[in-house]
This record gives sequence, structure tokens and C-alpha cells, in this order.
Amino acid sequence: MQSSRGALVGAPLLRAALGLGLGPGPRRAASEAHGQGWLQPAGYDTGVKVYNSRTRRKDPLIVGSADATSWYSCGPTVYDHAHLGHACSYVRFDIIRRILTRVFGCNIIMVMGITDVDDKIIRRAREMNVSPTSLANLYEEDFKQDMAALKILPPTVYLRVTENIPQIISFIEGIIAKGHAYSTAKGNVYFDLQSRGDKYGKLVGVAPGPVGEPVESDKRHASDFALWKAAKPQEMFWASPWGNGRPGWHIECSTISSLVFGSQLDIHSGGIDLAFPHHENEIAQCEVFHQCKQWGNYFLHSGHLHVKGKEEKMSKSLKNYITIKDFLKTASPDVFRLFCMRSSYRSAIDYSDGAVLEAKHLLLAATAFVEDARAYMRGQLACGPIGEDVLWERLSHTKGAVKAALADDFDTPGAVDAVMDLIHHGNRQLKAVTKEPGGPRSPAVFGSIVSYIEQFFETVGISLADRQFVSGDSGSATLHSVVEELVRFRLKVRQFALATGEATREARRQQLLERQPLLEACDTLRQDLVAHGISIKIEFLLFLWGRKIGPELTSVPILLYFICGSPPQHGLMSGALSPHPGSKPANPGHQGRAHQT
Ligand SMILES: [Zn+2]
Repeated sequence: MQSSRGALVGAPLLRAALGLGLGPGPRRAASEAHGQGWLQPAGYDTGVKVYNSRTRRKDPLIVGSADATSWYSCGPTVYDHAHLGHACSYVRFDIIRRILTRVFGCNIIMVMGITDVDDKIIRRAREMNVSPTSLANLYEEDFKQDMAALKILPPTVYLRVTENIPQIISFIEGIIAKGHAYSTAKGNVYFDLQSRGDKYGKLVGVAPGPVGEPVESDKRHASDFALWKAAKPQEMFWASPWGNGRPGWHIECSTISSLVFGSQLDIHSGGIDLAFPHHENEIAQCEVFHQCKQWGNYFLHSGHLHVKGKEEKMSKSLKNYITIKDFLKTASPDVFRLFCMRSSYRSAIDYSDGAVLEAKHLLLAATAFVEDARAYMRGQLACGPIGEDVLWERLSHTKGAVKAALADDFDTPGAVDAVMDLIHHGNRQLKAVTKEPGGPRSPAVFGSIVSYIEQFFETVGISLADRQFVSGDSGSATLHSVVEELVRFRLKVRQFALATGEATREARRQQLLERQPLLEACDTLRQDLVAHGISIKIEFLLFLWGRKIGPELTSVPILLYFICGSPPQHGLMSGALSPHPGSKPANPGHQGRAHQT
């Protein structure tokens, strides 16, 4: 298609635009860390100790600059729907990115490459009888929608492989010029692994062996890997100095990262299966191209998602996967996020319905506590004297424990445990109901705890305020308002249809007959909304207004509606509308509880 040769033309401009300056290389302290030959970078010490796959130990996370922390994330190969295994990896790194930003003061520039030309894409497009380009476009959009549904922050910039072919060609030429790659008569270009000597194997330390190469391979050594693949008949291709072809997989990430960050890269992330050979090869390519000692200071790898009870990871090829879309029909993105947080990002994670349910219960417990604490602050929750000193002490202890956990290789399970422990202590105080409520009150300490807990969840991308909207996406609040308007309107129409203003029995019958279509329309609307997971019903609720108890219990009709996949089983009420504008509202803080009683 094209073969322009602008040697990384875009790089200086993009670097300047992102505030990275035009300077070439990394600023490193001369101090060589012991073992592995890893160079501890100079710059901003985040205070975090992170497990670095390059050294296989926890290293202090020091980034080039707090204002422009560089992070490259391998992106998807867009040939099919993403599944829960992918979701898990991207959610875990999204949580780490948020923590680094909000807790440890890094302004992160995240670059993600999208592989939109690849053997799998070509094969799938052929099966589906569509062009590889339209297939890739379709699944790229699908991927972005899934990420948004999971509340994963988009990278600062996505770069597509097919939009950077000239830059990839230039990168390959640079590697050839430095004597680390060779082209063949067939029009392939390979990285010459032997030229790397013992510098290869920085991540996993394995010596590459020949792996299932076809007999007709034109490589010099079986373990050399392709930088450029000569075009096969009926495949998409680009013109290059070596003939028509397309880039190999590993070279894409090296080029795209270098386009934005040059030879400097603080953090590189991906699933553990990418460590070898993909990341190993990226390192080899970049270090010879940039002629630098260390490209990519920290490599972070996430563990696989396993299907409970099986050794195997969730994957397309094993056909044991759950798509993100299917999963989100059964649980909210916040529940999935908490599920992911309950294990270290590095460890394999067992997926089971029970584990998801546990996360759901934890989130409900946190929400219920926050609502109870708010009710207490409003004076709507009768409660004996509070052990205020104990709570202040617990809050302070929790803050320290959470920060320490997060600074220890982003120990999210430890942080969640600390927060749930604080909730446990808060609940114990709120449960201390006495026969005679009154006496001194301690709203400030509960206010402080609520504020801290909400802030904690907000930091990791979970919104407790949105809890009642189980669908969980960013449009929930709007959806909630629209549904509320719609339900209110339906109620008015229905009341009008059933109103009996006429004096005679016959006139009333006639009036009802005339208004029957309105009632039918109301019924149809109710049935149709069920298909969207919204259920409307009238309930007569007993609720407690203020501190009145006993005979003052009032029975008031409340119009309820639920929004979620399977609302009634969750026992989580999404909203309650009072049918009469003048009547007292149910205590919104106790909707869920009221429903269960
Ligand atoms: Zn990559």
C-alpha cells in the first residue's frame, strides 16, 4: 500500500505534544543494582516497591518524571470479542494506574498499541468473508466498548499498527543497520538472536530453542524471530525495501512505544503469557535500535484468570471463556473490580460464581454501612453512645495500613481487608442500639469514615454512590432519572384512567371503558420495561420516619422500580417514588433493608 520512509517522523512531535521534551534518552543513576545488571533509574521515587519481572524481585518504583510517567501497555489483537481473562488483566492494571495517579502522585502517559493486522485477523476475516480491515475495525470498537463498560480508563493514546507501517519499516531498517537483523531472498526480515549474545533472556532467563519451525524456513537460526513477513498470496501487504509484506508482532510494540517515548520507558505491562517471547523480543529490538543498556525499567505482568477447579487459563483456544458482555449481564463492573482486587494482580485468579458472589456481598456490606452511617448522621438511626475514640483510632490505623499495602506491590487484597475491617468496627458501634436512644452523638467520626471509605473505592474506580444503579455504567445516573420520569408519568396516566369522577354507575362504567386503552398502554409499558431489566410494582411499605417507633409506624403506598439484570433476587431496590407529592418519602438510606423486611 505504501512505503514512505520517514524515520520516526512523528516521534519528536508527539513527544513534544505530550510534554516529554525532545531529549533522547533516559536519565539514569550510575548505580548498578546488584544482580541481573538492572540499572536503578533516577527520577521521582514513588515510594512504591513493585515486583519487576526484569529483576524478579521487588524494586523501588522510580519513574523518570512524576509529571510524565511513561507506560506502554500491549493492546488487543482485534479479531474476536474480548473475554473475562482479558478483562481481568486490563482491570488490574487500570486499578494500579489509578493508585499510582491518585495515591502516589504520578501523571501517567499511557500508550496502547492495537494489533489490527495479524495472522488471526486474516484467518478470521477469510472465515467470515469480510475484509481484514473491517473485521479489525469492528472488534477494535467492540474492545473499546467492553473496556468502557468495565470502567477502565482509556489509554492517553491508542496507536494502530496499520497506521504506523512506515515507522515500523524505519525501525527495522535501524536494527539491520546496527547489525542485528538480516533480510532473506524470500523477502523476510529476521532478528539475529545470536548477535544479542547473553543479553537475551532478561525477563525469564530462558535460552530460546527451536520451536516448531516449518522445514522451508529461511532463518539462519531456528530461534530467530520475524521482524517483517513477506506477503503470502491474497494477504494484505505494504511495500517495503524487502518487498511486499507486513510487520511481525513484536516489532509493532517496540516501534509504537518508541514513537511516543523514545528510548525512555518507565513501565511496561501485559499478561504473564506476554513475558516470553513477546516482551523479551521487544527488549532485544529496542535496546539494539536505541543502543541503550536498558529499555523498559519495570515490567509488570498480571496472572491468568483460571476457571475454578481447572488448571487451565481462560482462553479463546481452549474454548472455556466467558465474554465480557455475558458477564456484565450477571454482575456489575464494580463487583468484577472488587473481585479482581481480592487477589494480587500477579497471582492467578480462580474464577467461580461463588467468588463473584463474595465480591458482591462485600460491596453490599460497604454500601449498607455507608448508608447506615449517613442515616445516623441525619439522626434517623437510633443508636446508643458511640465509642468515638476507638473509631478515630481505627480510621487513622486503616489509612496507614491501606497506604502501606498499596505501596507494597499494589497489595489490593490487603487494602480491601483493612477497609472492610474498619467497616466492621463502624458497624459494631452502629449496632449498639439501646432502648433509650439519646445522649451525646458522634456524627463527625462517621462522616469522616464515610468520606474515607468512599474515597478509597473511588480511587480504585468503584463508586459506592452509584451502588443502587446495578447496571453501573456512566450513564446510570441519567438512566435513573429517565426511568424515574417515565415511571412517574405512567403512574399519573394510570391514576387518571382509574379515576371515577362520574356520578352514575353507568357513566362510570362508560368512562372506564373509554379509558381502558390508557390502562392497557400502562400494562404494556410495564411488561416492555421488564425486558430491559426494569420492574415496576406497587408495594405497601412500613417505614419509620425519624425516631418514631411503635404505634407511629405508618403504612404508605410506595411505587418501586428496580433496575438490573435480576433485581428482586438481589434484594437491592433501585428506587422508590412516593405516589403523592406531599407524602413523606421513605428513608432512602434504608430502601434495601425496607424491602427485605
Ligand atoms: Zn506488545
